[in-house]
Formats: sequence, structure tokens, C-alpha cells
Amino acid sequence: MRVFLILTGLIVLILSSCTPDDVDLSQKTWVDLTHPFNDETLHWPTAEPFQFDTVFAGQTDETFYYESHRIQTEEHVGTHLDAPIHFYEDRNRTHEIPLEQLIGPAVVIDVREQLMDNRDYRVKTEVIEDWESEYGEIPDGSILIFHTGFGQYWPDAQQYMGTTETGEEALAELSFPGIHHETAEWLVENRDIKAVGIDTASLDYGQSQEFKSHQIFAEQNIPGFENLANLEELPATGSQIVAMPMKIERGSGGPLRIAAMLPGS
Ligand SMILES: [Zn+2]
Repeated sequence: MRVFLILTGLIVLILSSCTPDDVDLSQKTWVDLTHPFNDETLHWPTAEPFQFDTVFAGQTDETFYYESHRIQTEEHVGTHLDAPIHFYEDRNRTHEIPLEQLIGPAVVIDVREQLMDNRDYRVKTEVIEDWESEYGEIPDGSILIFHTGFGQYWPDAQQYMGTTETGEEALAELSFPGIHHETAEWLVENRDIKAVGIDTASLDYGQSQEFKSHQIFAEQNIPGFENLANLEELPATGSQIVAMPMKIERGSGGPLRIAAMLPGS
């Protein structure tokens, strides 16, 4: 009898625990890491702003309601993907990045304290080492995300970009944190991340002239996610990222819808 009860208990346990194929992802808790695309969408000083125009909105002759819009955008505007080709010849274009590289476990490194009042802060290698001493080595296949806290300033251009000006002259005024190129170098040599993201306008800091971190990641075919939102809702480890850029054939990037599934949800 006892054996029968144990067996029955085991069967109930197995039946009640979901196998991965049974999981309904819509029942999980999701965080949208995407800023909306609208008139306030921030863009690089030399890029054109995102445009949204109404083609038609209203009642048709046939009695049904109809609405449609025309959008115009550059690839690197708002929350977006940097395909490796953006900064390295012969690397993956937007449509060539494997889906598996855009989906996966997140490692979130919070650098808000290290920033202090230095808007031009660059994430140093020591920050990664400190993070790893607390949480363990960054696992292979991670999507590495840097949380600077700058997402809170969106869409205030002065606070977020360091300038409200546009055009070539504004480039010298750009001021926001990014990833130090030595850190990028260390990461590609010592860790196996598949994508990298940040809540600023660029992987490199605003004052960068050469975009070295971009180049280092791009050479290794590692895509970037820029202008991320709501990073304060993510834990250091355990969430899963789903990043779905518009599949622009031959693109160097593209508008990105990105979300994170929280652990234990
Ligand atoms: Zn970009």
C-alpha cells in the first residue's frame, strides 16, 4: 500500500509539473524594454527624427471604420538594434542575425552607483569583476545588459543625450555613459556573450570619436541593443530576453521591440 501511495504521488507530481513544451509564455510576467516610437523619440543628432503620419482615419463610404498610418524612420532611432555590419565590414546584417542570438538569458550589470555624477562615465573591467564575485561568472550565451539609469531621462534630449541640438555641430556636445573599449576587449576575449545592451543612445559613451566598443563587439558578430527602457525592473540574473528587430533585408540595424520575462513568474 505504501509503495502504491508513493507511486501515485510521483505520477501526480510528474503530471502537475509542466514540461517546457507545455509552458504558456503569455502567463509569465513580462517587462517591456522598449520606448514607444512617437514625435518625442530621441535620435542621433545627425539622423532624421521618427515620423508618423496619418494616411486615413475615419468612416469609409462602405460604413466601416478604417485607420492607417505612414511611418518614416532611420534604422538607428529610438530603441533599436545595431547589427554587426554597422561597425565592421563583412559581418552580419540585420536579416542575417540568427534568432537564437536575439533570445536568451540576461545578465544585468547595474552601474548606477559607479556613475556618480559623471555623465561621461565608461564601464570599467573592474565592474564586471565585482559583479562576477557576487553572482558568479557571466554564463556562456548570455545577453549582457548595462543599466546606467539614463533610461529615466527619456525623452528629455538635454538630460539623456547631453544636448537638444541636432546636426554635425551637436556631436561634440553629446554626453552620456557607455562601455569602455578595454571592457569590450576583455569581454570578447574572456567571456562568450551573444548580444550586448544598454539604456543610453550608444554602446560607446557620448564623447567617443572612434566608437571602439562598437567595433570590438561587431568584429565578433555580437549585435547591440540601444536606448533600452525599464531596466530597473530586471534582476541581475534569471530573466530571459526576447529581442525582435524589424527584419530589414541588408540592414545595419532596425527598430527593435524587446522584452524580458522575469524569473519565477
Ligand atoms: Zn545604433
